[in-house]
Amino acid sequence: MQLKLTEVKSKQESGYLYGILTNEFDAIEKEIKILYLENLSKALPAGFLGYILLKKDNHFINYDIPNLFTIDEPFTFNSNQIIIKIDFTENVIWQIIDLSKNHIDLYLTGKCTQFCIACPQPQKFRKDLEPKNEALMISKVLINQKKHINISGGEPTFNKSYFVAVLKALQSNSPESNLQILTNALSFSKEAFILEMVEQGIVFEKLFFSIAIYGSNPEIQDFATGLDGSFYKLENAIQNINNHKAKIELRIVINKINLYDLENISKLIVEKYHDKITRVIFMGLEMSGDAEVNHEKVWIPFNEHKPFLLNSIIYLLTHNINVLLYNYPLCYLPKQFWSLAKDSISYWKKYFHYGCDKCQVKSMCAGFFESTLPYIEQVTPILIQKDKHEVKTC
Ligand code: SF4
Repeated sequence: MQLKLTEVKSKQESGYLYGILTNEFDAIEKEIKILYLENLSKALPAGFLGYILLKKDNHFINYDIPNLFTIDEPFTFNSNQIIIKIDFTENVIWQIIDLSKNHIDLYLTGKCTQFCIACPQPQKFRKDLEPKNEALMISKVLINQKKHINISGGEPTFNKSYFVAVLKALQSNSPESNLQILTNALSFSKEAFILEMVEQGIVFEKLFFSIAIYGSNPEIQDFATGLDGSFYKLENAIQNINNHKAKIELRIVINKINLYDLENISKLIVEKYHDKITRVIFMGLEMSGDAEVNHEKVWIPFNEHKPFLLNSIIYLLTHNINVLLYNYPLCYLPKQFWSLAKDSISYWKKYFHYGCDKCQVKSMCAGFFESTLPYIEQVTPILIQKDKHEVKTC
């Protein structure tokens, strides 16, 4: 949703106003809601964060009420189900969060502390390099929500005090939400940061960390992250996070650099991290950003992943470690591994090869990132042979 404002009457200094859009005169939690009215038959109720009126009612604009806006055209929306951003600098209203969904993504910054060779969105390609106030503003509006909230970047801990402020707001406003932090974990390699978070009131053991690991040794890890010392820092971070009882999942993005090391990574995980992690996720590459720039160094076709991937999965599973696959098309996996593969690519980035049209499991398949599709030469559509009750696959 994008709407043009015709008039703005606001004392807001930041240039932006964030709130939940409602059409209920007597809505609860008015202080985080923006009231939209097409027909105004009585005086505006006090206490809302802001008001949006159709321009035909603009004689009420004389009210001495902060954050009063008018628009030209009526619009429909699910009351109390969307968070909007009113941008005074552009005179536009944006829908930014759909509260009817169970998931919310909060993007904290484009900056990062690593320089990963296969980063799909490296900081040099991101327009917004500053910590965005937006995540904090949204966190303040998320009151009593029970959601799964992904906190990401760049590296979301790049600005530590901002990261802590966002977590603090979320944990105090929506304590029943689950917070998942997608991080390179370097900030947690020193326990002091965790102690500081705890001191500031963060309930650390309620956090869930998704941490990328690229190699079983410093050579591979540090080469893949572009940062000397990242392997040992990661080791310390996992230890520290585990000591403070937060949950951890490890993510392995499969590429040319670590494919032949996958089994070693799995052995390392079993030996060192078995009791510290909840699961391991193997991921297909998103071939944008630096992954595209470095495609000769990082791209390796899906059909070359076997047997390294399958041996690694089996090794982890036999050691009672849960495994999932993200961004991994089904036709590159034997059928017995399908239940591990999740439909993980966001719908606006998800594409299929033209050869997928005939496939009878397309609706269950993760498909491909749009940026990865040019690297896919062919797929093997799955045909279910009804007579024999069997599936024909690779
Ligand atoms: S043919 Fe296409 S839809 Fe079918 S499993 Fe392969 S990638 Fe998925």
